[in-house]
Amino acid sequence: MSVIDGKSLASQIKAEIAQKIQYYTSKGLRPPTLAVVMVGEDPASAAYVRNKMKACQEVGIKSMDIKMIDETTESELIAQIHSLNADKNIDGFIVQMPLPAHIDANKIIENIDPDKDVDGFHPLNLGKIMLGLPALAPATPKGIIEMFRLMNINLAGLHVVILGRSNIVGKPLAMMLLQKRQWANATVTVCHSKTQNLKQIAAQADVLIAAIGKPHFVKADMVKSGAIVVDVGINSIPDPFKKSGYRLVGDVDFEAVKEKASWITPVPGGVGQMTVAALLQNTLEAYEKNLNLL
Ligand code: NDP
Repeated sequence: MSVIDGKSLASQIKAEIAQKIQYYTSKGLRPPTLAVVMVGEDPASAAYVRNKMKACQEVGIKSMDIKMIDETTESELIAQIHSLNADKNIDGFIVQMPLPAHIDANKIIENIDPDKDVDGFHPLNLGKIMLGLPALAPATPKGIIEMFRLMNINLAGLHVVILGRSNIVGKPLAMMLLQKRQWANATVTVCHSKTQNLKQIAAQADVLIAAIGKPHFVKADMVKSGAIVVDVGINSIPDPFKKSGYRLVGDVDFEAVKEKASWITPVPGGVGQMTVAALLQNTLEAYEKNLNLL
């Protein structure tokens, strides 16, 4: 078994991005700018936002933190989005999810300019992804495919089983892995909470990708010997030995599964790192398009 070092792979991507930005700014251009809109004060979301902004700083992307109170109305948030859409100096922005229950997330996403949608959640971008056309792709699926590319893992013809069918991970990832192109061409099965015989299906996977949000759900008997296991899950579980009182674990029972897998991603230090790197790639792409550099 070998552990996939998401941190080191993400550093490679960040170094490429930093180099490009340095080139552009040396020619007198302004740096790329990402805005992050957060409504409310969910501590987990605040930690994700801090991570993203730190990563921006590392590569030379200017980031803007836009905090809105919990009581923000849907129309106030939409007005904020329209102002970011219209601002030529903002190349891309994200609205940190989850949003408070009184705001319809789909309506918010639909109001984002697809060219600035660096989270890749807008229906136009997702539609293009399905058709195999160039588009800003959702960061987590994109980061996972980047991971395969950097590891030189050829998925052509392999059976990939994805656990989870969310709009931000499972579904777009399935579409992207199905494309007729390099680092894809897989045979894809998607499982969800209504899937029968999930255990047996998972055990047939050459590549098993878990994205369900259930700590340690994937056990060793669900994994074929020699399979590649990608753990997307980020779950917080109580841990009295930690100062914070909790620790983060994935959807995979890492200690047991690592003995059967050929490659496995850890949590933390795996897919999470790749997701942030892919967000930076999307921001650079949106900047290049905004400034007609492509
Ligand atoms: P969602 O809650 O939106 O979707 C979960 C999916 O898992 C659903 O399709 C659900 O099925 C399925 N599911 C839940 N329980 C089971 C079960 N017992 N058996 C089979 N399928 C099940 O989650 P997300 O996709 O947003 O996130 C999944 C996990 O990935 C979370 O832990 C999240 O924190 C993490 N995450 C990590 C990221 C990273 O950068 N590493 C980025 C995004 C998410 P159904 O549709 O039938 O309800």
